[in-house]
Amino acid sequence: MHDLLIKNATIYDGLGGAPVQGNLAVSDGRIAAVGKDAGAAREVVNADGLALMPGIIDTHTHFDAQITWDPLASPSPGLGVTTVIMGNCGFTIAPCRPPDRDLTMRNLTHVEGMSLDALRSGIDWNFETFPEYLDGLERRGVGPNVACFAGHSSIRTFVMREAATTRAATPDEVAEMRRLVVQALEAGACGFSTTRSGQHNGEAGIPMPSRLADEREMLALSSSLKDVGRGILMMTKAADTPMPFIEKLAQSAGRPYLVAALLHSNLTPESTFEDLAHIAAARNRGNRLYGAVSPCPLTFEFTLHEPYVFEGLAAWQPLMKMDEAGMKKALSDPEFRIAVKDELARRSRRMFNGEWEKMFVTQTTRPEHAKFEGGAIDVLAAREGKHPVDFLLDLSLAENLDTLFTATLLNSDEQAVGAMLRDPNSIVSLSDAGAHLTFLCDAGFGLHFLGHWVRDKHVMPLEAGVRKLSAEPADLFGIRDRGRLALGQCADLLLFDPATVGRGRPERVFDLPAGASRLTTPSVGVHGVWVNGQCMAARDGMLADAPTAGRVLRKFAA
Ligand SMILES: [Zn+2]
Repeated sequence: MHDLLIKNATIYDGLGGAPVQGNLAVSDGRIAAVGKDAGAAREVVNADGLALMPGIIDTHTHFDAQITWDPLASPSPGLGVTTVIMGNCGFTIAPCRPPDRDLTMRNLTHVEGMSLDALRSGIDWNFETFPEYLDGLERRGVGPNVACFAGHSSIRTFVMREAATTRAATPDEVAEMRRLVVQALEAGACGFSTTRSGQHNGEAGIPMPSRLADEREMLALSSSLKDVGRGILMMTKAADTPMPFIEKLAQSAGRPYLVAALLHSNLTPESTFEDLAHIAAARNRGNRLYGAVSPCPLTFEFTLHEPYVFEGLAAWQPLMKMDEAGMKKALSDPEFRIAVKDELARRSRRMFNGEWEKMFVTQTTRPEHAKFEGGAIDVLAAREGKHPVDFLLDLSLAENLDTLFTATLLNSDEQAVGAMLRDPNSIVSLSDAGAHLTFLCDAGFGLHFLGHWVRDKHVMPLEAGVRKLSAEPADLFGIRDRGRLALGQCADLLLFDPATVGRGRPERVFDLPAGASRLTTPSVGVHGVWVNGQCMAARDGMLADAPTAGRVLRKFAA
């Protein structure tokens, strides 16, 4: 007698094989039978022809802090995700000594899009070292399966304290960091992650520590994977991080390198394709580079209280160190405005490049401004006879910076994004789930990929799309017993309707510690999600009593 039988399903194996009609049985958390006759079970679900695939593996999340107060890592399991990879971009919270906790949270507050209050009252600091952090997760239990990178910025802060954000490391400090990376890998880290992106800043514009690393440090830490013989490297590159440099790091480790974030920009439309061409050339030389691409347009909902979208501008840097009164004064300053306009007139691969037609007024606070709601900044500014910079800043200042804007900044050219998703060296990723919480929610990236790109845009057959979300990332990360529906595999399952699958509209909820808000999205077309054979979500989203059915993954294939 099996524990669970899902009968009459259209089964997608995750490996790209043609779907088969049949039944799938689960015993003790593993797939015990697949086929026409799978035997009897205590619980039977009639799939009625719906599609059954391996649960989605989300390779780019930032749940490291959230998972210590929300072991379920919501909303991801409700959106079909059964395994999350955390600690991307080098942002982790372990290792961390008690006196450095505030420093670590101040680094995270910005990139995570969470208030410092939420982090301060939320994080359970029941660890100091990376191995203790993994042990803590295991003791508390986790909803989805969890794998965690050794994060460059945390390790740098652990070794260099305050100096981590101000200078290059000494040879002794590099040696100590390398020792900690190896320690993390041996305890079960899935690899080593870092960032060079100028968009990655902590509180008051402090650069994330890894941005201060020189080539010697980058090589020393990356090559530590060679000693261990396992794991994957990941980096969020800057516009000017040369691909040959990343290839050199990959070569020093002899391990795969996942390069993020390949987001398409209309102002430099060739650059992501140049990156993918470099990656293909590197592959031909035997260096296993992959490009992390997103199926989602990068859409931010924001106020000027947290102007993340503008913080890639050099002219904006001084404002990040100011309190709100100082910032308001600066926003009114004509010289500041001229500097912003000049900079926006020069093309670059930054997040915002003056695409005012893609930035909208979403919500105003004063009745006389209600007429602007839903309008694009370029149109509204022209109507008011103002430069878009002046229009946006004047409006926001008149409303105490409370005006809500929405901007679709990158990845909005559908033809280009479709081509990137089809690239043989691309990994469908970049949900950033658990981060940027006040601005966006792409935790449903997999459902969006299956609905919008596979069904509506026909970028690839469904069986190939399923593979991009399951066996492909499992193989990249050396996760052997997940990501495919086959005998003996862990029973991570997603039951969905290919005709309707997708994600709903973003909703703002106020469920973070200290009452802070975040954006979330509901699932569409999901009928069931199981982690290790236990049901986490049904048609209406995550179960109210969803179990901590996940495992902390610590063993990765070479
Ligand atoms: Zn990230």
